[in-house]
Amino acid sequence: MRKPIIAGNWKMYKNQAEALQFVEAVKNNIPSASKVESVICAPAVYLQSLVVATKGTDLEVGAQNMHYEVEGAFTGEISPSQLADIVVKYVVLGHSERREYFNETDEAVNKKAHAAFAHGLTPIICCGETLEEREAGQTVSKVSSQITAAIAGLTPEQVTSVVVAYEPIWAIGTGKTATAQDANETCGEIRAAIGEAVNDYVAQAVRIQYGGSVKPANVVELLSMEHIDGALVGGASLDAASYLKLLEAG
Ligand code: PGA
Repeated sequence: MRKPIIAGNWKMYKNQAEALQFVEAVKNNIPSASKVESVICAPAVYLQSLVVATKGTDLEVGAQNMHYEVEGAFTGEISPSQLADIVVKYVVLGHSERREYFNETDEAVNKKAHAAFAHGLTPIICCGETLEEREAGQTVSKVSSQITAAIAGLTPEQVTSVVVAYEPIWAIGTGKTATAQDANETCGEIRAAIGEAVNDYVAQAVRIQYGGSVKPANVVELLSMEHIDGALVGGASLDAASYLKLLEAG
């Protein structure tokens, strides 16, 4: 049985006061971690205060990116050991915005996945096709190759604890959601690709989130699908009441 995982992706939104107000508003209403994993992936500058503010609650904190090196002359970057140092639990890797605007490659995502495990972080690895690729019938080959490249060289145990986020690029921030059936089918294909790359046992254990204009109004249907084990949510995770509604669906 795969436990649902709902992760908010705040992107480059909120200031410190807003981030802390959010935690105050949700912390006493977070469902038990035995039922659903609840995560907020926040801007790096607020991670430490959020880790402190969520201590003793079932709300987990994640980063939105990191470098793969432990340390070095990489001005402006944050290392996996630095995230581990402040006890961040999750890290989003290979989000389509990072791939598009910051030239993040499959190879870099793979190095980051290895680095995450080396430091006890759980990676949420994103994949997704553009509208052009979808119309050209390339969805499955695109997302399968992104995910198999990202998990290359990881042990089966590590792959089991990876969280995959399938986010069609045309559905992110656009209000357009893939139908639950389409999203489920692609998540099933990703699972099959993991089965081929590793084994079926691992593929059945891996959690696959859907992302792209998920909101309280569509989350229940999406999460009812066989291969969808949670959601990575941008816009609808910014508001505390809306975030809590997403968790209720988990
Ligand atoms: P959205 O973003 O929910 O605002 O579409 C999802 C994401 O980019 O992770």
